[in-house]
Amino acid sequence: MRGSRWVWSAAALLAIGGGVYWWARDRAENQASATASGAALPAGPRYESAHYRATSTATPEQTRAVLAAAEALHAAYLQAFDLKDEAGRAKHQLVLYGDRAQFRANNRSSAWAEAYYLAPTCYAYYAEGVANPYHWMVHEATHQLNHELAVLKPAKWVNEGLASYFGASRLEGGHLRPGTIDPDTYPIWWLGELGLSGDPEADIRQGRIVALRTLIAGTDRADLNRRFNQYYIGYWSLTHFLFHYEDGKYAAGFRALIRDGGTRADFERRIGPVETIQREWYDYLQEVAGGGEATLVRPIPPPRADAAR
Ligand SMILES: [Zn+2]
Repeated sequence: MRGSRWVWSAAALLAIGGGVYWWARDRAENQASATASGAALPAGPRYESAHYRATSTATPEQTRAVLAAAEALHAAYLQAFDLKDEAGRAKHQLVLYGDRAQFRANNRSSAWAEAYYLAPTCYAYYAEGVANPYHWMVHEATHQLNHELAVLKPAKWVNEGLASYFGASRLEGGHLRPGTIDPDTYPIWWLGELGLSGDPEADIRQGRIVALRTLIAGTDRADLNRRFNQYYIGYWSLTHFLFHYEDGKYAAGFRALIRDGGTRADFERRIGPVETIQREWYDYLQEVAGGGEATLVRPIPPPRADAAR
């Protein structure tokens, strides 16, 4: 199980990276390249929900389940950012393949991709027989909402942090509960492997975690490719920390930071000095990794409450 998770998460993470790579490229160029390489839509039936249009070769039941997860994300996302629903807007596009082989045969991202967002469409396959078959699509659909609904131009750590945060949240009774932690999602299944020592500087030196300034700078792509699990644990946990630490102490600043983009200067203006925050974030990560998430699962403070701070 652990071995297969290694392989799966490695491939998937690279896929996520690939998705972001594409996402970050000029949109016009994306669309031109998509047109040039032909349609990747499988010749499957079309499905619609309130905000999504899916082409799918998965079963109707599987497709409806993924659409329901996407709708749950959409509702949670609007609420988290106090956004208005998109009246009259074209529906967001999803492509769901019935299995991995079909996805790979039609893949237009990197060869190792497991899911990706190539504007304006999210591509994923239905993962049969796993506890959470939706989280890759929820991850990619968050990139889609960042781009198409919130119209953000976030730094990589913000974009991946939000996608990982929503993608790793629990889906309960048809609702996505942001900030709850589903252990059957990427990168959460790596939390137990961190082996943190209690000394952040030592753990950074020994490569157990990525330093906060490195995570925010996001300039060392070779380093990211070498140890992407540590980066994604960093993206996810930093986002969770910024929304929920001390009853949402930094949530208002984080919302502003998301709008700013997320440079180190933005971070220090909106949140605080990187070296100080690193210590708080590290302690928080250690608590979550130690199974302390039960104490952390509180709703994101609503934006209006933030504004009063
Ligand atoms: Zn991603």
